Amino acid sequence: MATERRERPDQRERRPYQKKKVCRFCKIRGFTVDYKDAKALRPYITERGRIVPRRISGTCAKHQRVVCTAIKRARNLAIIPFTATSI
Ligand SMILES: [Zn+2]
Repeated sequence: MATERRERPDQRERRPYQKKKVCRFCKIRGFTVDYKDAKALRPYITERGRIVPRRISGTCAKHQRVVCTAIKRARNLAIIPFTATSI
């Protein structure tokens, strides 16, 4: 039966209270990220230089695109690395 499948208490349903992530750009009006500003881009890239996904950072789709473009521009200008520099 279909109901039996739902009776697994393990996965999915067990999610304790989680703080709702709000897009920083939507929250603060006029807050933008500039591709020339490596410090501003910092929270949106991982240690290894990858772009932090939306589900982690909480950025909305519209602003994630803006961030993504900014990061890619900054990479091209060698402001931020493509990857972590390995030895
Ligand atoms: Zn937003």
